[in-house]
Amino acid sequence: MTKQTWRQNSRNHVKTEDFSIQRSYSPKSEDLFRLHIPRYFKNNIDFSNSSDPLLMQVMPSQFELLKTDDFSNDPVGDLHAKKTKGVIHKYHGRVLLIATGTCAINCRYCFRRSFPYSQNSASAQNWKKAIEYLNNNQDVHEVILSGGDPLMLSTKVLNNLTTQLHTIPHIKTLRIHTRTPLVSPTRITENFLNWLKDVSLKKVMVLHSNHAQELRDDLKPVLNRISQTQTLLLNQSVLLKGINDNSTALANLSHRLFEFGILPYYLNQLDKVQGAAHFQVSNKQAKLIHKELLATLPGYLVPKLVEEIPGKKNKSPLN
Ligand SMILES: *Cc1c(COP(=O)(O)O)cnc(C)c1O
Ligand code: SF4
Repeated sequence: MTKQTWRQNSRNHVKTEDFSIQRSYSPKSEDLFRLHIPRYFKNNIDFSNSSDPLLMQVMPSQFELLKTDDFSNDPVGDLHAKKTKGVIHKYHGRVLLIATGTCAINCRYCFRRSFPYSQNSASAQNWKKAIEYLNNNQDVHEVILSGGDPLMLSTKVLNNLTTQLHTIPHIKTLRIHTRTPLVSPTRITENFLNWLKDVSLKKVMVLHSNHAQELRDDLKPVLNRISQTQTLLLNQSVLLKGINDNSTALANLSHRLFEFGILPYYLNQLDKVQGAAHFQVSNKQAKLIHKELLATLPGYLVPKLVEEIPGKKNKSPLN
């Protein structure tokens, strides 16, 4: 797969006509957050089914235009935790780098829909500020690449970062938060895999899948090859009304993830970002679903149910 082909695959491949039979589709919502669906993900959508769990994650809907009290533009308080360009240090021992502002897919429920990420990425200026910050903070041992989606950066830019990380003795772990391998798997090139294999830190990749239908058999070899670089594969999901807000769907997802060599990590309560209120599941319902999961699955297949409360030192368990 050449770079050119991946660019082609990662472009938005959905057109307004694709949504023509959907009653809740609203092109106006695209002005608030751009429509962006890569080819691979598009091919797995059933456009004739208004409750298709993949469609619902990405279709601009009229409900996004509703203003909801209690929902805001920076629900997780990231603007306040920013240390320097693209560096967010909220939790002990680990620093999150906003690698880039873009993603391979635009998920309608994402808090990124209203966060000014483009002015805040750490990859601009060759990671200079981020490396400076890491060098000066000895108690940081883990670097988390997030965004946006760090796999939108070229392998060369990623390599530039890890080459510099290798020179900082207190950095032990590289974690990559990405949805790209699951929604645009052609990004996982030979070149990318060679880079990852050569990273001598401990490596964790936290994927993002919300429904078992996202995990088709043809992804198996891709994930296998990532595992073979000695990278631990985890998954985080967002609890989403109408998509995965029942224990059957989530148990199926956990089993499916396990078949792919991925362990469930977090089940996140929705961040209260303006325009996403129609995806919200109440805390009461969330806890009930989680209880059912505990009663159904082996412990290692139950994700931790958490919410992000601004100002807290960790993701907060709901219990
Ligand atoms: C979620 C998050 C992390 C990682 O938290 P873990 O509980 O280790 O997964 C780190 N920094 C920030 C700013 C985060 O939002
Ligand atoms: S891939 Fe992740 S960061 Fe990007 S839009 Fe989706 S949920 Fe948000």
